[in-house]
Amino acid sequence: MSKRNLGLNTICTHVGEVKDEQFKGAVSPIYVSTSYEFLDVTTKRYPRYFNTPNQEHLSKKIAALESAESAMIFSSGMAAISHMFLAFLRKGDHLVAQNTLYGGTVNFIKEEFPKYGIDYTFTEGYSVSDFEKAIRPNTKLIHIESPSNPLLTITDIEAIAKLGKAHGILTSIDNTFASPVNQNPIKLGIDVVMHSATKYLGGHSDISAGAVAGSKESMDLVWNVSKNLGGNLSDMTVWMLERSMKTLGLRVKAQTKNAMKLAKWLDKHSKISKVYYPGLKSHPEHKLAKRQMKGYGAMLSFELDSSLDSYAFQKALKLIKSSMSLAGVESTVISPHLTSHALLTQEERDKIGISDQLIRFSVGIEDVKDLKEDINQAILAISN
Ligand SMILES: *Cc1c(COP(=O)(O)O)cnc(C)c1O
Repeated sequence: MSKRNLGLNTICTHVGEVKDEQFKGAVSPIYVSTSYEFLDVTTKRYPRYFNTPNQEHLSKKIAALESAESAMIFSSGMAAISHMFLAFLRKGDHLVAQNTLYGGTVNFIKEEFPKYGIDYTFTEGYSVSDFEKAIRPNTKLIHIESPSNPLLTITDIEAIAKLGKAHGILTSIDNTFASPVNQNPIKLGIDVVMHSATKYLGGHSDISAGAVAGSKESMDLVWNVSKNLGGNLSDMTVWMLERSMKTLGLRVKAQTKNAMKLAKWLDKHSKISKVYYPGLKSHPEHKLAKRQMKGYGAMLSFELDSSLDSYAFQKALKLIKSSMSLAGVESTVISPHLTSHALLTQEERDKIGISDQLIRFSVGIEDVKDLKEDINQAILAISN
């Protein structure tokens, strides 16, 4: 059976299973050994070498989902991204980074890069020409994020991949928001894909993990750095992630469907002044999203009417939880101006369009009617 021809849900369920040869059980056994025989073996197995049986096998599932030759699993999304950056960038190199990256990624670049003597430029905007303008002779990597947080901007993945190839620069993407269910950047020419597996890959808000996928050649470079930095995930958690990923396709498709319905409903709601969702025709990059995504994802943002207090709104919700994280099967909301963008000044937030009325909505698998009802009762409760 060729892996190339397997469908999404078959990959999620079966690729990378650890076969239980001894007892013929239906699920992967967990191999917790940190110590493996070294006599007569060519592969030195060790957790920090990222090659214990559970790590090695789950990597195959992630690689298959991203159409990559190889993948590695890490202890968090930030472990994945930091190991990836340090694999492709060294002293004197330059990174071109999209202006709207995940906050932790921005902090890593600003706080850690100077210690390693790595230069960087954040783009002015997220159009291809913004990236092109930022390229320098020593640029070695272009890093993008699409859809981005929290305004769901869409970057032209194929055009960025081409730009990188034309200049001999590697390209990477944070594919966390779309998940492999809705977007496969490697098929669009991107070299390396990373995920916070804490989000959709885990999907139940109970696992911290990350992943990087790419060609064998680029993953060898990541491994060379990772074995020294040591951000591997415990095999117990690798096993939990495998179990979670069996339903990745089912979950994310259901969440994406819900998000589309809610985006349309919110867009018409008299107490909602604006909705940010790439699936809406009014989204500035809707056509681009349609071209490069299989589904528009389950993250959206909206602005409450100026008469409503966004903090009071979240407190009044009964079903939808307020949460720092995202992508679980349960719906959650967050105020970017109080959390991810709290350290910016009001002026800086205004400039990038993060208003006090903005709510980021991670849509879960609940019934849409209940989510609508919860939003309506919260609005009613805080209206006077
Ligand atoms: C959460 C997140 C990360 C960081 O992942 P952790 O698992 O929290 O380390 C990176 N990128 C995006 C887009 C995220 O949402």
